[in-house]
Parts: sequence; C-alpha cells; structure tokens
Amino acid sequence: MFTLIRSAEVFEPQPLGMRDVFVAAGTIAAVDEQLPMPKGIEIQVVDGRDKRLVPGFVDLHVHLLGGGGEGGFWSRTPEIGLSSIVKAGITTVIGCLGTDDVTRRPEALLAKAMQLDEEGVSTFIYTGSYQFPPATITGSVRKDIALIPKVIGVGEVALSDHRSSQPTYEELCRLAAEARVGGMIGGKAGLVHLHMGDGPRGLDVVLRLLEETEIPIDQFLPTHVSRTERLLRQAIDFARRGGYIDLTAAPKSLGFASEVDAALRHALDAGVPIERISLSSDANGSLPLFDAQGHLQRLAVADIKSLHLEFKELVRSGYRLEEMLPLITLNPARRVGIDRQKGSIQVGKDADLILLDDELNIEWVMARGRIMVEAGHVQVKGTFEP
Ligand code: ZN
Repeated sequence: MFTLIRSAEVFEPQPLGMRDVFVAAGTIAAVDEQLPMPKGIEIQVVDGRDKRLVPGFVDLHVHLLGGGGEGGFWSRTPEIGLSSIVKAGITTVIGCLGTDDVTRRPEALLAKAMQLDEEGVSTFIYTGSYQFPPATITGSVRKDIALIPKVIGVGEVALSDHRSSQPTYEELCRLAAEARVGGMIGGKAGLVHLHMGDGPRGLDVVLRLLEETEIPIDQFLPTHVSRTERLLRQAIDFARRGGYIDLTAAPKSLGFASEVDAALRHALDAGVPIERISLSSDANGSLPLFDAQGHLQRLAVADIKSLHLEFKELVRSGYRLEEMLPLITLNPARRVGIDRQKGSIQVGKDADLILLDDELNIEWVMARGRIMVEAGHVQVKGTFEP
C-alpha cells in the first residue's frame, strides 16, 4: 500500500536531482529531498541510490491482440502478455487493430485492454483499424470515443499503403470530424492515428484537409513517418506547422538498420520542437516485407522491448537522458490526452515508475503503486502466463 523510494536521481522527465518519492494507494504522494519515515504504517522501502527514477513508459501504438495476417492465417501475430509489457518498462499501453478487422474486432481489443488493466497496467485503445468504413463497437466512431472510457481516438487508419482501404478525401474528412466531435463530447483527445505506408502520396490528403477544412492539425498523429525520405520531409513540414508526429522504434540491437536516430536529428535540425515528437513500439504488429508487386516475402513480429532499446541507443548516441525521456513518457501521454495521470513524476499522478541502472537497464518497475519488476525479474504475471 505504501512505498518509499529513497535517494534516487529523479527525472520527472526533467532532472530534479536526488529525491525521495513516497507512494500511497497507487499515487505519487510526495517528492522531496528527504522525506521523514511515516510512523504507525507498514511501508516498503526501496533503495534508489545510484539509480535513476523515471516515469513508466507510455507506448501509444501496441497491437494488443496481435496483428498481421497479411500472408494468410498462418501469418497472424500473437496477442501480447502482461510480462513482456512490464519487463519493457511500459506501464501504459494504447492498443490498436491493424490490417485485419475481419477476424479481430474492436470489442475483442477492448476486452483485452480491460484484462491487462485488471492484471496491473493502464490501457486505452483506438477504435477502428486500417480500414474504412471503420470497425466500431457502437456503430459510430463518435459514440465509441464519447462514451467508452478506454477509447481515446480512432486508428491506426492506413494511408498511402497497399493494405489501406483507400479512403477518399471526403471519407477522411468525415472520419476526422467524427473523432473530433466524439473527443469533444467525451473530454478526450479524439485522436486520428494514421498508419503511414510507403506510397508516394504520403500525407498529401491530410495536408489538403488542413487547407480546406476547419479541423485543426493536432487532431492527427501520423506514425511510421521515417519510412521513406519523402514521407519524413512531409512529416517534418507537418510538425513545423504545429502537427505531432510519431516514430516507430527500430533499435539496432534487435537487428534493424534503425533510421530513428537520423530521422530525429533531421526533425530537430529543421526546427521541430521535441514536444511534438513521440516514439512507439508497434509491438506485436507484423513486420512484413513485400516485393514491388505487393507480394509477401517474409514476416517477423515487432517486439515491445524495442521502445526501451531505442531510447537507450538514442541516449548512447549522444542525447541527454532528459531530452529523450519525454519521447516515451510525457509526449505520448499528452498526445493521447492522459497526462493528468500519466507521463511524469508529480504529486497526485499515478505511481508508474521505473528504476534504471547506470547503463539505463530496467531494474525495477512499479505500475499504479504495485511492484511489477524487481531486480530485472517480472513479479506479476498475466493470468495464464507460466
Ligand atoms: Zn502501422
């Protein structure tokens, strides 16, 4: 019920220096230089010396139910389990469907999110999928967002991709308007999360929509934007005009020829404020490789630990910890509209915390006040995990 973390170097994400952090009933109750030991209550004390205490990571793009299926039924990727989420330092996930909205439905995604929530992490979802018309729970994107607490937007809607249902300009305008109004009614972000494919049209249709309608630029969050050079250039321009963009982690340590570092440097050099950039894992989505004719060549599954690994590699490449930390904490929390509870170490917010060692390895994870990982080992497993 009560935990006192002693003498950790706190990054809230900004550095606060050495602090004690007191957690009560799942909430950060006090942060100070030296907190007195409360008397008369049982308290677990965690030694934070020589460690960095950072907010639990927020991953705004996870295929909780799995994804893929683009090469036939054998190519459906598996559901995610609680252990892999917490082991990767992630305490908040936002779930999405992908290409397949025939055999995977938003109702099942919502149920999966509720399961993970009951098991200990915080979860939200997007209604819809790659496709248009969108698969919904109530029959309407607007109603799903307004009325279902876990639904914070629609997505990932696929654009400029051969797997997209190729929404027309008018259809995309209508969808964005539905999400916006649903968000207004429900007090949510009402985000339109866009999966960007590698097609040459890139963000063209979104840029036209911004010219011709009243829908504000921050209603959209395109992801996978470092996929092609042209797309990245467009995305940087989009972000300089006030938009937000999301990069997909692809760490070298998992064998990717990561373009995230280069993309980030391009964006920052071009004057994009780092507050407008987030990083997500695309976990449990398929990583299909198609030939020029759109035929599937091979398939792998994205790993949720890529978020932490990419973050670690970015810091090693020369960025400061406090520069990179917002990409996977405060920025995504703000973007999906949950920053009142998530994304930073502040009194009153949820006690979602990570202790990192010198090498930025994850040693200890707390989610809503419960210790999920200790000494690098998972303490709380999913219901059916061995
Ligand atoms: Zn995608």
